[in-house]
Amino acid sequence: MSNTFANFIDGEWVDGPDVSVNINPSNLDDVVGEFARADAEQVERAIRAAADAFPSWSVSTPQQRFDVLDRAGSALLARKEDLGRLLAREEGKTVAEGIGEVGRAGQIFKFFAGEALRIGGEIVPSVRPGMTVEVTREPLGVIGLITPWNFPVAIPAWKIAPALAYGNCVVLKPADLVPASAWELVKIIAEAGAPRGVVNLVMGRGAVVGEALVSSPLVDAISFTGSVATGRAIAARCVESGKKIQLEMGGKNPMVVLDDADLDVAVEACINGSFFSTGQRCTASSRLIVTEGIHDRFVEAMKARMSTLKVGDALVPDTHIGPVVDAKQLQQDEDYIRIAREQGGEVFGGGRVQNAGKGYFLAPALITGTDNSMRINREEVFGPVASVVKAKDYDEALVLANDTEFGLSAGICTTSLRHATHFKRHVRAGMVMVNTATAGVDYHVPFGGRKGSSYGPREQGSYAREFYTVVKTAYVAA
Ligand code: NDP
Repeated sequence: MSNTFANFIDGEWVDGPDVSVNINPSNLDDVVGEFARADAEQVERAIRAAADAFPSWSVSTPQQRFDVLDRAGSALLARKEDLGRLLAREEGKTVAEGIGEVGRAGQIFKFFAGEALRIGGEIVPSVRPGMTVEVTREPLGVIGLITPWNFPVAIPAWKIAPALAYGNCVVLKPADLVPASAWELVKIIAEAGAPRGVVNLVMGRGAVVGEALVSSPLVDAISFTGSVATGRAIAARCVESGKKIQLEMGGKNPMVVLDDADLDVAVEACINGSFFSTGQRCTASSRLIVTEGIHDRFVEAMKARMSTLKVGDALVPDTHIGPVVDAKQLQQDEDYIRIAREQGGEVFGGGRVQNAGKGYFLAPALITGTDNSMRINREEVFGPVASVVKAKDYDEALVLANDTEFGLSAGICTTSLRHATHFKRHVRAGMVMVNTATAGVDYHVPFGGRKGSSYGPREQGSYAREFYTVVKTAYVAA
């Protein structure tokens, strides 16, 4: 028996004309639920509801916004075990990772509850006599939020929480593949007291629901996380219609391992960054750039550590790596492994895992003997696949690290303060990690990249206000 979960429009749960069936990638016989797919007319109603709710919500007191966000944060934290399990069941990350993600979503709501109280302004002496200048921030209006499948609760949370904290109303379109966690999140926010129309949920396909959001003149801004191709197409449309836009997209994140690195630290950072969450993180360490003196020892140690990793059902507690999210992504991972082999790489691991059950199980793959021009080092795989590029020394490693179209996260493992300091300053990425994985970030500081990875203001932390507010300058003559 499966349940049907409705869209949330103007404070009401509304069935759609169609449903998507959410399948557990660890067990293809397990149906998580059937989720309504909205059509363009329902999306329009959701947008209108948000627009109608905006005049009141935008002037609500900081205390009102704090209370809603704080209650939602408390509910997420109280329910992190069961919601973490649901997340693992629909997306395939392990239960521990799922619980961690829901806990993080709860902390994000707590942080932005505080931000609702902290939104001050400036009073600036005018250059003219008898005049005062005030610089304040105001909400934008209706924000369309379009999210991917790999962080089904954290990404919706880190878009909804700041949007509401600063007085905006939202229409969320989660990934069609994993709507269950987002559905629970929206229910929690509604129960936390968000007034009717402030938060709306329209599930379904990007080509229908996402398209309707991007094309509506009532939507003031779009915050998007997903692939480069979709992000760029949406951005072009938003620029044409004058919408504010924020994009977080892919990565090909380098992890540099220098001769002077602590080998154990480097291996743990690379195992975590490359393979945990099945490598399905935009911040995954997918290019391991290793200097000659440590290269062979590093590769052997990685292979030994990879052999200890258990790939299997995400809901089984001792699983280290859950399944790939769906058949299409599994095909993409296997295609990249094959192409890397054809282009001269030597592949360790990377086969289908037998006897793990009826799911999309892939062993982590390490591809050695690659150079930075190979496709495996240019394009995002988004699976448990990492490649190794050998570098002569630190200088060459830095050049290789920067030789990419992306610029989200970059890491270095070294015991040299000089190299760590130089790398922090000169690697062209939005986030830099020293002796720790390229993935795994705090919730109260900015998140984002440069080059092909990101566009527009940063997400998260108090920097989120750059996107979710607009500045007003007022002149007051005494
Ligand atoms: P997609 O770009 O395919 O989808 C992202 C979202 O956009 C989904 O909700 C999708 O809907 C929607 N969408 C698709 N087409 C349109 C359209 N024409 N108009 C409006 N919305 C549309 O990415 P994935 O979900 O497949 O996620 C994987 C990719 O996202 C990877 O490349 C990864 O690098 C990147 N990513 C980046 C992150 C970052 O922070 N930098 C974080 C997470 C992922 P639908 O549900 O139908 O697919």
